[in-house]
Amino acid sequence: MANRFFIYNTMTRKVEEFQPIEAGKVKMYSCGPTVYDYTHIGHARTYVNTDILKRSLTWLGYEVFQVMNITDVGHLVSDADTGEDKLEKKAKKEGLSAWQIAEKYTKHFWWSLDSLNIKRPWRVVKATDHIKEMIELVKTLERKGFTYVIEGDGIYFDTSKLADYGKLATVDLKKLRAGARVEMVPGKKHPTDFALWKFSPKDKKRQMEWNSPWGVGFPGWHIECSAMSMKYLGETLDIHTGGVDHINVHHTNEIAQSEAATGKPFANYWVHFEFVLSEGEKMSKSKGNYYRLDDIVDKGYDPLVLRYLYLTSHYRRPFNFTWDGLEAADKAYWRLVDLVAEVISQGSKLVFRAESGYNKKFTELISNDLLMPEVVSLVWEAAKAGDLKPEEKAGLILGWDEVLGLSLKEKAKEQVRIPGKVKALAQERWRLKQSGRFEKADELRDEIAKLGYKVRDRQDGYRIIKEHKAG
Ligand code: AMP
Ligand code: ZN
Repeated sequence: MANRFFIYNTMTRKVEEFQPIEAGKVKMYSCGPTVYDYTHIGHARTYVNTDILKRSLTWLGYEVFQVMNITDVGHLVSDADTGEDKLEKKAKKEGLSAWQIAEKYTKHFWWSLDSLNIKRPWRVVKATDHIKEMIELVKTLERKGFTYVIEGDGIYFDTSKLADYGKLATVDLKKLRAGARVEMVPGKKHPTDFALWKFSPKDKKRQMEWNSPWGVGFPGWHIECSAMSMKYLGETLDIHTGGVDHINVHHTNEIAQSEAATGKPFANYWVHFEFVLSEGEKMSKSKGNYYRLDDIVDKGYDPLVLRYLYLTSHYRRPFNFTWDGLEAADKAYWRLVDLVAEVISQGSKLVFRAESGYNKKFTELISNDLLMPEVVSLVWEAAKAGDLKPEEKAGLILGWDEVLGLSLKEKAKEQVRIPGKVKALAQERWRLKQSGRFEKADELRDEIAKLGYKVRDRQDGYRIIKEHKAG
């Protein structure tokens, strides 16, 4: 029997008790990336939080079936169904094909996620591999009378035909759309209507286009998630996840077309992750004010330090990224690793006490809408506890790492295995730096790098870590 679990549902605006459709199983769909640019640390937070949700459900006794899409076609520059396809635009800019662009940035996406120890989904599905399913879904919507054609443009979903259109939205869509200056596609009946299938331009061949009963073209962005989630997980999902930016358009439209087609609820729980800000502003690819995981690796941090930093904030609060914050997380993270390393190097046997008060508290915190900042405090409480032996502390913390995903054991082993030669070089380098002999110190840094290690200086000393290859 799975433990009880409570989660905030954007649909009802309440923390609710989770009830799966099928006992002990969770069908979860997570909106994946549009692969036209590098993954930044804002995306990374959304996927770390998705991973925490997934690992927590597993901890509580569920079997999780997670499907994630890769959007490699159809996501237009503007949410109003106008503008170029993001991938085709980038292809022109980089002198690559749209397919190569997709491959390049998908690779970087997985490098980022793997580096952050995010578990891979049960199924990863590409939009371009599911055109047939999307066309079928549009056909169903057409048969049921939810669509209309705009000559020379595409097939559109008529949002006025669905009584509860916009029920997920956190803003009044009608007011927002009517008041805002949106570039409306000529021929759209209502500002909220959206494209299901777009026709290729008459005068230009697209790199990505397919035949359909309505003519050559490509799918709208929203239809892919509906078609693929239903194919792999069925008509109703337990949980659907994504960033908060998806609530008012993308997820609102996924719900509309799925529920219009099946007459059933599309997802029972909607979980949305708040954004990472950079200097107080939303970090985004289009604004260019973002950092990538590579930037963090280049500065000598282990990627998991970023994961630790993200654990210190709740998923429903925006998170302002600063380098000072990362530096503090670096200290804390390695102190935990050291604690484990000490126990391991002494050969003590780790002890995990499931029935202890600490562990009960842990389970309670994660099952209450994923209170990770409180979990991090609990980790430190256990680490400093007077009533626990070192092997009990390490045992508890490593047990919890199934959910935290900080790879504490692997990192501890890595630390224990640093060769004596590297340690000696690092010590010598530190001494040289202290006495102002920077050039010689840099030479030693290069020597250390040749052995596959990196040293990162801090005010009070240095830390040797294994080199992590940039993406
Ligand atoms: P995209 O490739 O833009 O569709 O984004 C992939 C996922 O990352 C989506 O779930 C977005 O909501 C999320 N995302 C985009 N920007 C940020 C950000 N600055 N902070 C957190 N999540 C983000
Ligand atoms: Zn989606």
